[in-house]
Amino acid sequence: MNRLAGKAALVTGAGRGIGAAIALAFAREGAAVVLAELDLDTAQRTAARIEAELGAGARVLAVQTDVTQPASVQHAVSEGARAFGGLDILVNNAGINVFCDPLTMTDADWRRCFAVDLDGVWNGCRAVLPGMVERGAGSIVNIASTHAFKIIPGCFPYPVAKHGVIGLTRALGIEYAPRNVRVNAIAPGYIETQLTHDWWNEQPDPAAAQQATLDLQPMKRIGRPEEVAMTAVFLASDEAPFINASCITVDGGRSALYHD
Ligand code: NDP
Repeated sequence: MNRLAGKAALVTGAGRGIGAAIALAFAREGAAVVLAELDLDTAQRTAARIEAELGAGARVLAVQTDVTQPASVQHAVSEGARAFGGLDILVNNAGINVFCDPLTMTDADWRRCFAVDLDGVWNGCRAVLPGMVERGAGSIVNIASTHAFKIIPGCFPYPVAKHGVIGLTRALGIEYAPRNVRVNAIAPGYIETQLTHDWWNEQPDPAAAQQATLDLQPMKRIGRPEEVAMTAVFLASDEAPFINASCITVDGGRSALYHD
């Protein structure tokens, strides 16, 4: 449908899950896409998927990137700019679950969580903002979580970092609004990815944990990565020119539910 025709986007953590779905959706909408991913093999698999679907029209570049390292993110942005001109869109998607009890959590757990889930988002923003400000246009989409405003016991400090992602989104959205750079977030609820399956598999009874998750959902199912990707396309596109410093929840209504 070419809703992103002529635009270039960088998506972090695009090797699988929500990031891969966003990269594919962006490419289908006509964007050139940089897949900035820790694991180059999975990024190349996403690239091959895009090329297989779009053929010669595909403009895609896989770049090994660690979002915790500013120089690595800057390298991916520079490679993207070299291949496709300046970047119009950034999706800070890479994230990890670090779920601990606060008092038994190690310092390393705390640092690992913040390094990826919050510093990683800032590293992405800092790398693309100068170019977006110079061109007077840009859209940044940060993948937060419903953990950004709801708490599940035993999931510390992930929600602390995700609250920070919303704070960063709002602060940068206001800072750069006069330069026509929009910064928004998406808060997914449970989405069926490897991350979610890993969490179920860590529980004493994975099948029961999966069923318990489904039972909590108003729609009696969890979300699909493509459903987050559709929202990312909207926020990144020119269909959302006055949405800024905002967050769209994609959770089938779960966070609005008090109880059954
Ligand atoms: P996945 O674990 O399936 O995918 C995450 C991707 O990010 C992986 O390809 C992973 O690479 C990559 N990644 C991890 N660390 C880094 C890093 N340091 N630098 C670059 N890439 C990295 O997760 P999801 O797709 O489920 O989650 C994507 C985002 O959505 C995350 O921010 C997550 O917090 C958020 N989210 C997910 C929800 C869900 O239910 N799935 C719900 C709410 C929010 P590798 O495989 O090499 O580690």
